[in-house]
Amino acid sequence: AFEAVELAPPDVIFEITAAYDADQSTNKVNLGVGAYRDDSGKPWVLPVVKKADAILRDDKSLDHEYLPIAGLPSFTEASARLAFGGDSVAIKEHRIASLQSISGTGANHLGALFMSKFYKDGKTPCYLSNPTWANHKQIWNNVSVPLFDYPYFHTKTRGLDIDGLLSAMESAADGSIFLLHGCAHNPTGVDPTQDQWVKIADVMERKRHFPFLDVAYQGFASGDLDKDGWAIQYFVERGFELIVCQSYAKNFGLYGERVGCFHFVSKNAETAKKIKSQIEILQRSEISNPPAYGARIVSTVLNDKALFNEWYLESYAFEFRYRCQNLREMSHRIIDMRQKLFNHFQKLGTPGTWNHITDQIGMFSFTGLNGLQVKKLRAEFHIYMTQNGRISMAGLNSSNVEYFAKAVDQVIRE
Ligand code: PMP
Repeated sequence: AFEAVELAPPDVIFEITAAYDADQSTNKVNLGVGAYRDDSGKPWVLPVVKKADAILRDDKSLDHEYLPIAGLPSFTEASARLAFGGDSVAIKEHRIASLQSISGTGANHLGALFMSKFYKDGKTPCYLSNPTWANHKQIWNNVSVPLFDYPYFHTKTRGLDIDGLLSAMESAADGSIFLLHGCAHNPTGVDPTQDQWVKIADVMERKRHFPFLDVAYQGFASGDLDKDGWAIQYFVERGFELIVCQSYAKNFGLYGERVGCFHFVSKNAETAKKIKSQIEILQRSEISNPPAYGARIVSTVLNDKALFNEWYLESYAFEFRYRCQNLREMSHRIIDMRQKLFNHFQKLGTPGTWNHITDQIGMFSFTGLNGLQVKKLRAEFHIYMTQNGRISMAGLNSSNVEYFAKAVDQVIRE
């Protein structure tokens, strides 16, 4: 009965990693996967995560019982404070339904599933940025919500196509769903400025569109939680009902532990309570209850002042300036790589403009390299990236950034 099932193509990112692993060259560079690497190209377990892990291992009161359906309360509460700010009025008014999720992907799925079941007739279209994280399409297709694109990336300026974006919002039917990347847009690394966010919010409010914010890089992008969380907090202050999908894969380096949080901000506490009760039923039918370990790690850090400071320090107080802050170590290494790459292009006189490398933020950069150039980089230089010219900045380090710049310089001149 299943002979007609077609063979699906392999996942693009995982295919790149497999090809990279099989490559015998000592010069090989993997710029495909969006996972942090330290300056020696190795995965990095955050020191603060190691400390939290040791605390948990010593805690004799812990067991392997199920968590509640909505997850670990100390985790979901701390997650809400992180996303919405400690003084958030929405938190104080109990207007937020928060549920622990299977990382950011699970939060996106839970949100899409909820919208398909409870937003109008379930057929209200969702608009995705062009381009976007490839999984967004699959997630929304799985719940049969009609999808449209909105313009996002301006190929000429390699910046935001704000006019295209705003006019798509204008012409969409009232009350459409708009999926927005809260910070560090994947794959482009291009974010709206605060002024542009204001314009986006103005149109969305007038058109009564629903903001669905995917936030996979808070703190990881700039090293500043408030800066990266600005759009979320601004939309909440403006009084929108909205969804926020949070991932701790990048900012805690907990990729494989699948730690995330889903939030629905509603108009009042009563609605939030009802919404939470429905999403709990959805959660129950899919995963019963979320995994405990990663949430305990994050909760341990976020709820302890000293550990929180080690992960991230808000004030730039002098006495802390030279202490290791894990979030900033990652974000600043990436920012430093952007600068170094830009400097190499300058020095080489590589044709074209390269300021987008330092203007873009977060894990990824949309280089502007075309498909043919990407193929040549792989075949001739053992450099791996997606066909659209996106590179993961985390794959660059002091030992390979010059090699990469020279290779790009060469294929551009060919
Ligand atoms: N959304 C976006 C835009 C992402 O880039 C990612 C990570 N690649 C995610 C969500 C979620 O990833 P995870 O499920 O690993 O948290």
